[in-house]
Amino acid sequence: MGSDRLIRPVGEGRIALLRADITTLTVDAVVNAANQSLAGGGGVDGAIHRAAGPELMRELRERYERCPTGSAVITGGGRLAARYVIHAVGPRWRDGNHGEPELLAQAYRSAFTLASEHSCTTLAAPSISIGIYGFPIDLAAPIAMGAAAAALEAPGTSLREITFALFSDADLEVFARTL
Ligand code: ADP
Repeated sequence: MGSDRLIRPVGEGRIALLRADITTLTVDAVVNAANQSLAGGGGVDGAIHRAAGPELMRELRERYERCPTGSAVITGGGRLAARYVIHAVGPRWRDGNHGEPELLAQAYRSAFTLASEHSCTTLAAPSISIGIYGFPIDLAAPIAMGAAAAALEAPGTSLREITFALFSDADLEVFARTL
């Protein structure tokens, strides 16, 4: 990981911000911004499935039918360096009056809980919902990092480092301002 990593200590761990393609990171678990049907798609979902290989979709089909918004499921990491992929479903942005902020927080919480249940120490997450799902990043960044901070401060958590892998300098800047 490069020197452009921004870090903030939280509890016994830390939140890190990195401009990176999440599929290249060596962490215990990678979070995927999935959709309810777990059918793969564009954006980071497509990138993770391409990099992980067909085993990921096979396992999803075998173990899960769908995943409601705000929740998450876990599979192996396929060909990724990560041991697990945690498929979390964020909300599609409508107008902000349909519970979108709480659903986004729930998606992150579900992902972090699963990671800790699987004894993960390091985890990388993209900024869920801000791409195809249209969630404004200015609102998403504090929700994402608030959920990460709460997860790192939770008693008994295995998590020690949560890295947000931002795909553009502009996205990284918004997260850095919030950090
Ligand atoms: P959603 O449907 O939840 O909005 P998207 O995949 O469309 O999910 O976008 C979520 C964020 O992930 C966007 O900011 C997008 O630029 C980013 N993204 C896309 N590919 C990658 C990648 N390989 N690594 C990290 N982030 C990525």
